Amino acid sequence: MSSSELAVLGGTPVRSALWPKWPRADQGTLNVVADVLSSARWAVSGASDGKVCYERRFAEAFAAYTGAGYCTPCTSGSSALTIALQAAGVGRGDEVLVPGLTWVACASAVLALGAVPVLVDIDPATLAMSPDSAEAALTPRTAAIMLVHLYCNLGDLDRFLAISQRTGIPLVEDCAQAHGAQWRGRSVGTFGVAGCFSMQQSKLLTAGEGGAVITNSEGYHRRLEQFKCDGRLFGPTTAPGRLDLVEVASVQGQNFNLSELQAAVLLDRLAVLDEENATRALRAERLCGLLSGVPGVEALRSGDQVTRRTYYNLVLRLEPAAFAGCTADAVARALSAELGTQVSPVYVPLSRHRLLCPDKLPRGDLSDIELARRDPRQYELPNAEEARRRCVTLTQPVLLDDEGGMDDVAQAITKVMKLADELLTTPQGPSAQAF
Ligand SMILES: *Cc1c(COP(=O)(O)O)cnc(C)c1O
Repeated sequence: MSSSELAVLGGTPVRSALWPKWPRADQGTLNVVADVLSSARWAVSGASDGKVCYERRFAEAFAAYTGAGYCTPCTSGSSALTIALQAAGVGRGDEVLVPGLTWVACASAVLALGAVPVLVDIDPATLAMSPDSAEAALTPRTAAIMLVHLYCNLGDLDRFLAISQRTGIPLVEDCAQAHGAQWRGRSVGTFGVAGCFSMQQSKLLTAGEGGAVITNSEGYHRRLEQFKCDGRLFGPTTAPGRLDLVEVASVQGQNFNLSELQAAVLLDRLAVLDEENATRALRAERLCGLLSGVPGVEALRSGDQVTRRTYYNLVLRLEPAAFAGCTADAVARALSAELGTQVSPVYVPLSRHRLLCPDKLPRGDLSDIELARRDPRQYELPNAEEARRRCVTLTQPVLLDDEGGMDDVAQAITKVMKLADELLTTPQGPSAQAF
């Protein structure tokens, strides 16, 4: 029997109250879903009912929200990355710079096109791709740069835009974790040729699954639309019983269409995104204030260019010595037990992420040399590894709680810190499942 006060060792947790539920729906959400269900139009590829479909309404609203010229909704963040790279001309054997610290889908989307993800180390200040490391990784075969705005910070868009303009290599922004964030007063996703968003369950705007690509280029947009709709483009809304879609086939497309149910939910939830982002930002500020006097715990700071900061997962960088040398994994498990919510370390670097396994791709005519080009283990990512050792993240619904919730988080951190010697007796290795 353990006599520790730590919840992870059987003690009383700091918090027993539930955290805010996520995702959220209100009466308005139920109404739009009912509207779709009672209509005869559940998909953009269904016959027109004479009204503008929800998918086009969401596309227009999200373009307006981000200030982009165009928006192509699609099934997921993964399909958003896929069509964005395809429309940028990325194909077999091309190299795409991908940050070494991100969700695995960034690299999988590249592999699925037959292209080669080149893993680039991160900038420790932002946890996004380092512009210096990106420059060093450029080769004549680099066909795109995928900059991911990770967790609650933005990559250095000034530098990446300059690299893209100088080299002519398209910049694709992955904004799956940054809906609503702004750099120098402009929405993320509008700097590169494309901005890709995920609307998967955990994201700041969600329909359970979903995605979107924004762009300012009309020609690029026409390709995006066809890549996600079997080579078809939207014509003007037509008479009931006929298709809105026109067969163009200037590219080889696939079906990545968002359903009308999902589009309706996204349109409804977009209306509260700013308000929810503002609440999360306020709570994050409060939490950072509470932790500012605690040595050994530091929130990531963002530069002045980030004129609107949003919070997906809130990242805290820990000084291991302040936690008796415990790993971030062990601290995250202890905090999860104290708070009754999932606290996690950051991603396992892609160079050794178990879900990134190009050796298991169908071999086809891939030569040994081509397979070796895709081997993630060839990369050393010291900054990503350092982040994995030091950082823990809180999920965004925690930041939708009231101010008392932030007091609980701060209290849990100081409690775990105080009792870190006892935590050192628990397993220190990684948990089975990463978030
Ligand atoms: C979630 C996410 C994706 C993938 O989006 P899905 O909708 O799950 O396909 C891609 N990149 C980043 C950074 C993500 O967080």
